[in-house]
Amino acid sequence: MHAFYLHGAKDLRPADIDPPELSADQVLVRICATGICGSDLHYYEHGRNGDFVPARPFILGHESAGEIVDAGAFADSLPVGTRVAVDPAHPCKACTYCVDGRYNLCPQMRYYGSAASTPPFDGTFRQLAPALAAGCHPIPDDLDYRQAALLEPLAVALQAVKRADGVAGKRVLVCGAGPIGQLVGLVVRHYGAARTFVSDLRPSALALATDTWADGAVRADEPGQLAQVTSAGIDLVIEASGAPPALRVAYECCSPGGTIVQLGTQPAEVSLPVNLVMAKELTLRGSFRFAHVFAQGLDLLTQQRIDLRPLITHRFALDDLVAGMETAASPDSIKVVVDY
Ligand SMILES: [Zn+2]
Ligand SMILES: [Zn+2]
Repeated sequence: MHAFYLHGAKDLRPADIDPPELSADQVLVRICATGICGSDLHYYEHGRNGDFVPARPFILGHESAGEIVDAGAFADSLPVGTRVAVDPAHPCKACTYCVDGRYNLCPQMRYYGSAASTPPFDGTFRQLAPALAAGCHPIPDDLDYRQAALLEPLAVALQAVKRADGVAGKRVLVCGAGPIGQLVGLVVRHYGAARTFVSDLRPSALALATDTWADGAVRADEPGQLAQVTSAGIDLVIEASGAPPALRVAYECCSPGGTIVQLGTQPAEVSLPVNLVMAKELTLRGSFRFAHVFAQGLDLLTQQRIDLRPLITHRFALDDLVAGMETAASPDSIKVVVDY
C-alpha cells in the first residue's frame, strides 16, 4: 500500500509498505479522507513541531475517516464495510488523567502523526491504518468522508468551548480565522453565544467567518476596528491563531471578570500585560486536543447542526500530498482535505 513518510523539512517521500499488523484492540481502516492540520504543516515545513522532533522518518496525518476492512475481534460492533470517523488518540487508559476523564493530558499519549511520543507515532497518510476499535465512530450514510475527517478538529473546537464553561449569552471574540478558529466560531454560534466576533489578517478568512457564523469581523492589523467592535464588552476570548499579538489583544479587550481560552500554540516565551489578569480578575484557561467530545461532534454533524463543507477550500489526491501541503500553507486556503 502507498504511504508518505516525512524525512525532514519539505522532504515527504512516497513508499510502498506492507499492511500493518493488528493488535487485539485494533481494527484495520482503509482511509478515505484526511484533513491537513496546522501540526502536519509545522512538521512538513520545519521537520519538527515546536519541541517535538521525530527520531525517525514517520507518517503524518491524524484527521481521518474511512471504512473498516478488517474487523479483528470486533466483527459484531464494527463489521467490514462500516464507515467510520477515526479518533487519533491512543491514551494509556491507566494513569490518573485517563481515569479522571482527561485523557488528553495523558503523559503516555500516542497520537497519529505526532512526534510528541518517542518513537513518533505513524499517522494516516497511508491507504491502510490500524485503529483502536474504541476510537472508530460509525458515521451515517449521508455524511461524506471529508466532513467526517474533520471531526477531529471539530473536537478540538468543542474542547475549547468546554474549557470556557459555556458560551450561551456571552459576547465572544475568536482570534484567528483558520480552520480551528472557524470551527470554534461555528460551535460558539450553535451553542448560543449572544454576539460573535472574529479577528484575522486575511480578508478571505474573515469573509468566510461573516458568511457562516460571525456577527462582526476585525482586521487584526487595525486596532481601531477592534476597539469599535468590542466596545460593548467581550466576555470570552478564544485565542486560536497562535500569534503573540493576538494573545495580547485577548488580555487587553477581555472585559473584567471575563475568560480567555488559549487554544493556539504560541512561541515558548511571549511578553504579555499580565497585570490585567489581576486587575480585571480574568480567568485564563488552556485547551489541549480534546477528551470525550468526539461523539458530541458526531452528533452535531449527524443532526446537521453544523455544516463543515464551506471550510473545505481545496482537495487533493493522496499522490499529490506535497501539493496539498503547499496549498495548506498558503494564505488563501482554509481547510485542505486529501482524498484516497
Ligand atoms: Zn488536527
Ligand atoms: Zn493515561
